[in-house]
Amino acid sequence: MNPHLGALVTTTPVRDVLIIGAGPAGLTAAIYTARANLAPLVLEDEPSSTSEQPGGQLMLTTEVENFPGFPDGIMGPELMIRFRDQAVRFGADVVTARVSRVDLSRRPFEVWVGDPDAAEATYRARAVIVATGAQSLMLGLPREVELIGHGVSTCATCDGFFFRDQDIAVVGGGDSALEEALFLTKFARSVTLVHRRDELRASKIMQDRAFANDKINVRWNSTVTELVGDNRLERVGLRDTLTDEISDLEVSGLFVAIGHRPNTDLFKGQLEMEDTGYLVSGLGTSTNVDGVFVCGDVKDHVYRQAVTAAGSGCMAAIDAERWLEATTDHEMATETNW
Ligand code: NAP
Repeated sequence: MNPHLGALVTTTPVRDVLIIGAGPAGLTAAIYTARANLAPLVLEDEPSSTSEQPGGQLMLTTEVENFPGFPDGIMGPELMIRFRDQAVRFGADVVTARVSRVDLSRRPFEVWVGDPDAAEATYRARAVIVATGAQSLMLGLPREVELIGHGVSTCATCDGFFFRDQDIAVVGGGDSALEEALFLTKFARSVTLVHRRDELRASKIMQDRAFANDKINVRWNSTVTELVGDNRLERVGLRDTLTDEISDLEVSGLFVAIGHRPNTDLFKGQLEMEDTGYLVSGLGTSTNVDGVFVCGDVKDHVYRQAVTAAGSGCMAAIDAERWLEATTDHEMATETNW
């Protein structure tokens, strides 16, 4: 621990590691840093009226069959409880609170929950691991969130297997939608791409592949207006955007592929990000701010899997641990605010 704590200008103690986010990336970072005796503090988000829940996107899935080590599959929420229990077992503190502000401009880094204008930060830490994840954009239809895992999905890689020989639909006209549609043709009997305009946004090569695939057909100028089914999706209601005509499409699966939004608002102006909002990392999991590391879907718009998020959480923990070891003496000597 820091021997200069007695000279603190604020009363908030300084943690070695603070992790923002408690999905597979954040909790894996917590397991590793806890086992390195760094007593990490994990801030997991509060449930909100949208789809966000502590535990990340796996809290919204049903069965997970592709996470290694579970040959019989495991329910997404149970998997996340196991991640969390494992982190706590080794000494991680998990606090449920929405972060309202961060100050990464000087060390120790400061993090507020609650009133962002409060004079004193709620938490201070020498190293911060950002694992705030990303959200799939949703259509905003009634019952959409409730039917996730029961016919509605945002991940073909995760759920395509469950739709063998079934008729399903994909919403969206970008590269993600076409990639999902093409992947789903390996399982489904038919894949209807529902797009709100009469031309796709996706790249030409993806369009060519999709149009060449016999299993894919397109409902142009159409939006999904309704999700119908008791316990599982049975059909969707469509509206023609040109004529307003309403029709039904009998599908047991609807893959929503209209884009993702990384949860990076908190870091605007502080951490380097792409135009799309995804955080940029340099070597390993480092960011443009020394001592701040990033892992999981908040920096990954390519793989977006629980296992890749967990892997990058491990990397961030090791990077943070090594950084703390390498900088401790120097920091103690030069920082006056500790
Ligand atoms: P995107 O390019 O933003 O496309 C989103 C699509 O969803 C658009 O066609 C959009 O319609 C539609 N959409 C948005 N909101 C909607 C709503 N409320 N209702 C119905 N439709 C809606 O997102 P993305 O496909 O996820 O791609 C993001 C980036 O990743 C892109 O740069 C893409 O090229 C890249 N990417 C690349 C690959 C690859 O190279 N293999 C794979 C995936 C993604 P409009 O067209 O009418 O706006």
